[in-house]
Amino acid sequence: MAADLHLHTTASDGKWTPEELITQVQKTNLTTIAITDHDTVDGVLPCIAAAMGSDLEIIPGIELNTEHNNRDVHILGYWIRLNNEQLIETLQYRREQRAERGKTIIERLNQLGINIGFDKVQELAGDGVIGRAHIARILLEEGYVESINEAFDKFLARNKPAFVPYQKLTPKEAIKLVLSAGGIPVLAHPGLMGDDNLIKELVEYGLAGIEAVYPSHSQEETNKYLRICEEYQLCPTGGSDCHGNIDKDHTALGSISIPAEWVAQLKARWLNS
Ligand SMILES: [Zn+2]
Ligand SMILES: [Zn+2]
Repeated sequence: MAADLHLHTTASDGKWTPEELITQVQKTNLTTIAITDHDTVDGVLPCIAAAMGSDLEIIPGIELNTEHNNRDVHILGYWIRLNNEQLIETLQYRREQRAERGKTIIERLNQLGINIGFDKVQELAGDGVIGRAHIARILLEEGYVESINEAFDKFLARNKPAFVPYQKLTPKEAIKLVLSAGGIPVLAHPGLMGDDNLIKELVEYGLAGIEAVYPSHSQEETNKYLRICEEYQLCPTGGSDCHGNIDKDHTALGSISIPAEWVAQLKARWLNS
């Protein structure tokens, strides 16, 4: 029994459609997965449909991108109600904001002499939520960079020439949104966030877990987050954050898994909340 609670599809910036993701998952030893696209739940039902008739358990989820003191804080929500009105309204508003932001990033890149159009971004994103990862992929395909990481390091990351800020949710708002949609909130990849002091504050807002196991976490970091889980009585979780094996920057599906007991603990906490 193994679980991966952090997976993306084409509903946001993943490379695989829900159907392709499920096909790939069925080649691994994973028995439980969570679909956690950025700011959308559109991939969840197609994944459940694609897994119909198999024993694969699919947890409906989301990853909300938030900001706190100029740091990116990602909040995962599990077992959220997909038809929750407040959730749907908030996500629709953010989708529009992301499209506007994508246009501005392309304008900046054009000013830097990079000749790509917004239509390419739209084509790549399809019906999905537009993200910087789409633009990074186009920069890679067009030969402006040699990896997705380089696209971020050179152009798209904070403080880089084509970075465009936009009004994000705060971590508190994201946690409240997950709770009001009937879900359970978990802090994604705390190692990337780089500010462990924030965890205490998030716990006060209702945080229930921490993604202790994550591809870029060292063993020491994982151990540290497991200790923090004990300290604040949080559930440890983990996931690969697989966006489809787009290039060597990303960790492959099946490389990260967590024990079934962790999922059971999280579920018990959700059911009792
Ligand atoms: Zn994230
Ligand atoms: Zn993610």
